[in-house]
Amino acid sequence: MAAQRDYYQVLGVAETATTDEIKKAFRRLAKQHHPDRNPNNPQAAERFKEINEAHDVLSDAEKRKKYDQLRRYGAFAGPGGFGGGGGGGPSTRRGRGGPPDSDFDISDLGGLGDIFSSIFGRRGAGGREAEPEETETEVTIPFRVAALGGTVPITLVMQEVCPTCGGTGAAKGATVSTCPECKGRGTVSFGQGGFAVNRPCPVCRGKGTVPSQRCPTCQGAGEVRVEKHINVEVPPGVEEGARLRLKNQGPKGRGDLIVQIHIALDRFFRREGLDLIGVVPINLAQALLGSRIKVKALDDKHVVLRIPPGTQHGQKFRIPGHGIEKNGRRGDMYVEAHVTLPEKLSAEEQEAVKSFAEKAGLKY
Ligand SMILES: [Zn+2]
Ligand SMILES: [Zn+2]
Repeated sequence: MAAQRDYYQVLGVAETATTDEIKKAFRRLAKQHHPDRNPNNPQAAERFKEINEAHDVLSDAEKRKKYDQLRRYGAFAGPGGFGGGGGGGPSTRRGRGGPPDSDFDISDLGGLGDIFSSIFGRRGAGGREAEPEETETEVTIPFRVAALGGTVPITLVMQEVCPTCGGTGAAKGATVSTCPECKGRGTVSFGQGGFAVNRPCPVCRGKGTVPSQRCPTCQGAGEVRVEKHINVEVPPGVEEGARLRLKNQGPKGRGDLIVQIHIALDRFFRREGLDLIGVVPINLAQALLGSRIKVKALDDKHVVLRIPPGTQHGQKFRIPGHGIEKNGRRGDMYVEAHVTLPEKLSAEEQEAVKSFAEKAGLKY
């Protein structure tokens, strides 16, 4: 079969086109080439089918991403895809990024469904995807967010596909030809003590092709460093050191982003499993005579805790069900009473304490 037409070309839109622009182009072309308007015109029918296929893929963010990825590997005919350009090299090879040639055969692409299932399925299953599978980062989140769950915005500097050239590294209108340094192989060999070592070609950066003019945004690299803002959804009860996996949020939208969670200390609480432990200061009179104190729970609601007379320093009180909730289980809250003593006594207060000590039989 003929090589698959480039979908962007089919719709006559730029590869940076928005969903809206794609929709508009599709509507206009579909109307123009609709079989009802072109009876007994097999060419129009073919074109209509193409337009629908192109729209089906490009209007679906997930499919479009996959398609763009394939397209960069030169799978599709037409400018923009590498395969058709150049000096007849077998296909574009990217030092680290490209699919192995043997796995790639346009002739067995068949229908549209096959493109995605066979190419991606096979490459995925074979574990031969050369892009990094995951990228890691760390973030420290507030204690309460870790306990209750929530959204934490993070900003990462990441390599992304250059928005100007769509990753080709070529300036608009530039022609692409086989790299003279590596003759299109994408790698160069260095002799080293009798061994030949292959390295990504420094001239084409492993692409195997060079544009007549480099993209002004990325200087030909095909990628740029950008600040990426990501909202991390933190599940309630997340543990210190937990690793959250964000699907396809890695550099260039490929691979997963792993976010390792660290939990900041809280002024009041610490955690033991699903239980919360907080320290409450009480004064001497409260410890001796008992009291009712208000304790702020995790959700900022107040819980009233009754302190019995004769409460000891460090004594713990359990408030059931006010701990962390996770997977349908709920921990308890423990309040540890810390007795604080006045640092200085007036003469009058000293007399009062002395008289108390004598009555209570306390030596001093
Ligand atoms: Zn660029
Ligand atoms: Zn090269």
